[in-house]
Amino acid sequence: MPHTEVPPDGTDHRSPASSEAGHTLFIDGVWGPAASGHTRTIRCPADGTAVATVAEAERSDTERAIAVARRVFDDGTWANSSPWQRGDLLLRVSDILVRDRDEFARAESLDTGKRLVESGYDMDDIAACFRYYGKIAGTDPGHVVDTGLPDAISRVSYEPVGVCGLITPWNFPLLQVAWKVAPAIAAGNTFVLKPSELTPSTAILLMRALAEAGLPAGVGNLVLGAGEQTGAVLAEHADVDMVSFTGGLHTGRTIAASAAATVKRVALELGGKNPNVVFADADFDTAVDYALTAIFLHSGQVCSAGARLVVQDEMHDALVDEIVRRVELIRLGGPFEEEAETGPLISAEHRSKVEDYVAEAVAEGAVLRTGGRRPEGDRFTNGYYYLPTVLDEVQQGTHAVGEESFGPVLTVERFTDEDDAVRIANDTHYGLSAGVFTSDPGKAQRVAGRLRHGTVWINDFHPYLPQAEWGGFKQSGVGRELGPAGLREYQEAKHIYQNIRPGPQHWFSA
Ligand code: NAD
Repeated sequence: MPHTEVPPDGTDHRSPASSEAGHTLFIDGVWGPAASGHTRTIRCPADGTAVATVAEAERSDTERAIAVARRVFDDGTWANSSPWQRGDLLLRVSDILVRDRDEFARAESLDTGKRLVESGYDMDDIAACFRYYGKIAGTDPGHVVDTGLPDAISRVSYEPVGVCGLITPWNFPLLQVAWKVAPAIAAGNTFVLKPSELTPSTAILLMRALAEAGLPAGVGNLVLGAGEQTGAVLAEHADVDMVSFTGGLHTGRTIAASAAATVKRVALELGGKNPNVVFADADFDTAVDYALTAIFLHSGQVCSAGARLVVQDEMHDALVDEIVRRVELIRLGGPFEEEAETGPLISAEHRSKVEDYVAEAVAEGAVLRTGGRRPEGDRFTNGYYYLPTVLDEVQQGTHAVGEESFGPVLTVERFTDEDDAVRIANDTHYGLSAGVFTSDPGKAQRVAGRLRHGTVWINDFHPYLPQAEWGGFKQSGVGRELGPAGLREYQEAKHIYQNIRPGPQHWFSA
């Protein structure tokens, strides 16, 4: 039986965002189809069931959306609107997200195959993000500068960047959208949003919510389609002032290169191969438990997943044995199966990449302790499932350590002492997140301070807060989302200097 057919609320498996005629582009406040009339069928990764039909935009649709966002920004009415009113609008959006939580969560689960309970938690975080930016919009109007001169006054103020191109991935579809859309609105920008072509449903629902909350026509525009036909246009177009991208490293490099031609602002949230450092003095049960959620939550399709277990020699054997025992108990299943603990991968193509990654790791000498294949059973046949996998004794410098699998694959490395732990954890071109497990608070702080990663969790893994900055060191990205810096990304600082006793300067003789 397909896993998507019997959601607990008794409704059918069609996403509430679906439109048979493909009227799912939102441009200038109007829902419509792609100019070509092309549509795309969205399928649930748990069993391949068709869950939505949406428009498939191309270059001309994207250019039309950019032209609208440009015109509405240049008109100035929105850009100069009160930040307090924009904040109120974001608070109304947050209220709508709370009201419609179940509908949003169901649409997210149908597109991603993610457990319904997880999608519900994501919706709580998304509502919190809109609430946060609703509350801080307008609280920092800038500052007066002490000129040190009796006849001059000076101030710095913050203005919107302009037209923003927002490009997002499929793993946390609406969460990644919220981290961009909420601050972009708070700052007074206009935008064109291009969510992942695999998971567009909640972006469609969000645009409905923005319209209901009173966002003026043309401020927020939505195009749906493949990256090369839609996202690439946003990165290269001269009328886009900023491109904010979340996704893979390779795509990020392409976008940065094409944005360079028009010197637009670029914000990148990219991948990670994140170390979870466990010292021998850590509480054993806690370390086991968090090592599992660090990587196997959402089948490892989390940019900040703790995919590298970096464990002190003395604890290695016991810890890995227990992790393997627990991994073999993990229950896979579709989004509406109560007993499922994690779900499928997003697509057949992505599962193939994970399979290739594991094969290469084993060829490099990694020891496959468990998993490394698809689960057996008819119920998994039509979904893109892959067993939680543990690769032990992986070595520095190998593909397995350096590259992101973005699947349910835990690699294990050993370290000897504190310096060795820091050296190994930092030996990566990524720098998104890291964990440290120890019962020594001083050591925890010392190690956290030396890790070159944008977020470090101590005796925990995964929590993030809308009020705390999120982003990557090194090749995990450029810029920050969330927190006050997440708003600054969407603002230009302007210095205004005034001579209050104007008169000739006589620098040049008459
Ligand atoms: P992806 O790079 O393939 O696609 C992301 C988005 O970019 C999609 O909307 C896609 O259509 C678009 N795109 C593709 N090619 C493009 C191009 N040439 N020009 C413009 N846009 C283009 O990534 P994905 O597979 O959707 O997501 C997985 C990746 O995202 C992982 O590497 C993961 O680590 C990363 N990620 C990072 C964060 C973070 O906060 N740092 C969060 C979530 C995901």
